Amino acid sequence: MKSNKQRKTEIKQRRWARMERQREVALLPAMPHGALAADTQLLALIHGQSFCHVGYYVDISYHCCDCGATCVWTAQDQKWWCEQVQGNLYAGASRCKDCRARHRAWRQSHCDAAEMAALRALWRARPDASARARVNTALQAKAPDLRCLAAQALAWWWVQFGDQPAHAQLEALSLERSWAPRIDRILRRELELRPGVHRVCRVVSYPRATMGAALPGH
Ligand SMILES: [Zn+2]
Repeated sequence: MKSNKQRKTEIKQRRWARMERQREVALLPAMPHGALAADTQLLALIHGQSFCHVGYYVDISYHCCDCGATCVWTAQDQKWWCEQVQGNLYAGASRCKDCRARHRAWRQSHCDAAEMAALRALWRARPDASARARVNTALQAKAPDLRCLAAQALAWWWVQFGDQPAHAQLEALSLERSWAPRIDRILRRELELRPGVHRVCRVVSYPRATMGAALPGH
């Protein structure tokens, strides 16, 4: 005689197996030969349902943006990046292995760890004049990492506190060619993951009009 609990567990397991089969069948026709299946349920968990468009990974060939060498971003590495590292789905490979190491060393040599920590600490509080000044300085910094952290601070101030000056600054930055994709990434990556700010991400398209009053609750 089985208890209700046992029966329920069995039903759940059967249902799970059935869903698993359906998922595999649904994936099969679209998968090219040699592709690596993506764990779509995991991706949906990490990145949100609407961003889960990756059904499988295939090797992607690209040119290193520094030395121009032809490289391959393997399906395996993509799976590792998206599912283990849980990195940005929109990030692509851009440098070969050697150039990547060189670039990382260059970046780190230009980045003051203390300054980065200080910038991160600014995100949590309402901005005062000195915080704004610090962020403005960092926006002009030579190191891309510092500039990104500064933009992230602006994004946080806007989302957490409805800070209008930060919003205006972000808006202005997003119109600049060199900043636009970065702002796009920051808003998607940093804000899409937080509950309650989904609508903010609609502002990632660049035209000025779309940035309006998209923020809920402000
Ligand atoms: Zn290279």
